[in-house]
Amino acid sequence: MFNKILIANRGEIAVRIAQTLQEMGIAAAVVYSDADRDAVHVGAADEAYRLEGNTAAETYLRGDRIIEIAKQYSADAIHPGYGFLSENAAFAANCRDTGIVFIGPSPEAIRAMGDKILAKQTAMGAGVPVVPGWAGTSNDLRDAPREANRMGYPVLIKAAAGGGGKGMRLVRQDGELEAAIESARREAGSAFGDSRVFIEKYIDRPRHIEIQILGDRHGNVVHLFERECSIQRRHQKIVEESPSPAVSDSLRATMGSAAARLAKTMGYTNAGTVEFILDQMGQFYFLEVNTRLQVEHPVTELVTRQDLVAIQIRIATGEALPFSQNDLRQTGHALECRICAEDAARGFVPSIGEIQVYSPPVGRDIRLDSGVTTGSRVSVYYDPMLAKLIVWGATRDESIRRMVWALERFAVLGVTTNIDYLRRVVLHPEFRAGRLHTHFLDEHPNLSDEPADVPSDAWIAAAVAETMKNNGRATATEPADRHAAPDPWQTVGPWRQGAGV
Ligand code: ADP
Ligand code: ADP
Ligand code: MG
Repeated sequence: MFNKILIANRGEIAVRIAQTLQEMGIAAAVVYSDADRDAVHVGAADEAYRLEGNTAAETYLRGDRIIEIAKQYSADAIHPGYGFLSENAAFAANCRDTGIVFIGPSPEAIRAMGDKILAKQTAMGAGVPVVPGWAGTSNDLRDAPREANRMGYPVLIKAAAGGGGKGMRLVRQDGELEAAIESARREAGSAFGDSRVFIEKYIDRPRHIEIQILGDRHGNVVHLFERECSIQRRHQKIVEESPSPAVSDSLRATMGSAAARLAKTMGYTNAGTVEFILDQMGQFYFLEVNTRLQVEHPVTELVTRQDLVAIQIRIATGEALPFSQNDLRQTGHALECRICAEDAARGFVPSIGEIQVYSPPVGRDIRLDSGVTTGSRVSVYYDPMLAKLIVWGATRDESIRRMVWALERFAVLGVTTNIDYLRRVVLHPEFRAGRLHTHFLDEHPNLSDEPADVPSDAWIAAAVAETMKNNGRATATEPADRHAAPDPWQTVGPWRQGAGV
């Protein structure tokens, strides 16, 4: 087993990884930028090393510096988290060459899946259905108009090296094709240093369903069922759940074995996610493989009762998977909301500043993966996601009710957050009925109307009362029990009711 692991990340994911290291008795080292000197992840680790500067390029993307630090302070392995260096094949290869274990798949697998054109070919080779599309030959897109016409409009232009929804263009008719290809190429070139694009049939109002996979170095591969992530703004997820209300047992088995088959074909090791879209007829199509731990991995952890980070570490040491497919079960339902410092009423622009009050909800079956606290500064340099609120319920209905309960008691003052927006999303009758698709948020623009303005005093009073209540208690109690005591949130309620759900 490793003695020390360097976490090459920040925010909630660095804190979450450090917690598992602590449980496993492994020393946790982190890196931090100047802006993050007092960040929560620094306090969560046993050792912290400075990366001079503030931008991602100067700090968390400095693979060379990070490997140097790992060597100098005797870390056995590096956990990259998600984002930053997590899908950087050259970084994974440099770790290997230096004798430091990269906790993730091989550089070859990262490279192969980082190219969406190649990934689709690999999927087809494994007998996995892919979205109908056309990649042309290298940079020659002269036949694009003919191919797009054959596929039928609308079509989507996508970047071969794409990620995070960047480099995508929806084209509704052939007159717009050429200009869209040009602008997608430009965006892809500057974002990924690779301007290759391809064309895909645009699937109308699909659901995003993905399968968690795990592979060890002994050839064993399992899947840990699905997550549905159809609630997206700008092709980025904000609400995720498992199981999906759209996935039957037989579809789950079919999609799960398709994902596992693809992983097995590639000799894939460690954790990964095979992303699919599901059309309205119930047909699923491969999108891509994310070769890392996913932001939304906690919903899988809550329904399977597994610690994915602990398993990633065990796989990286060479251990065999501790279970086989038949040992795995999905129990109950889990729902996650990404809490972001952003203004839903103003096109989701990030909100920057100091968090003056941070009072998250506590309760049984409520998990908070958080990267901030009172006094933290949200800067322009990094992603504005503050935390993830994840709840478990015996049924989907129960987890939705628990999520609403928790969101209503989540006080953040100082920066604008999407908490009230998320509350309105999960309360929406169509969401509750499980009728989701990837344009859900675009089609319900009124969800982002100006929220009811709860006066700061009401929030502070409720947060203080809540803190005092929690201080007198060793463990959190079930939400239902807590109503026995006067509910400090009653003061906030009346303002909230005006929010026009
Ligand atoms: P995921 O597929 O894990 O849910 P998204 O698709 O929402 O992630 O995000 C796209 C890319 O942006 C991924 O590479 C992910 O790692 C990165 N990313 C998302 N959220 C954050 C964050 N809070 N900090 C750093 N990187 C992030
Ligand atoms: P990224 O690497 O940016 O995550 P993906 O290929 O995973 O790119 O797609 C991200 C999102 O874009 C999907 O979840 C879905 O909402 C949408 N999308 C991608 N491809 C298609 C398609 N062919 N038809 C309709 N929507 C799509
Ligand atoms: Mg994706």
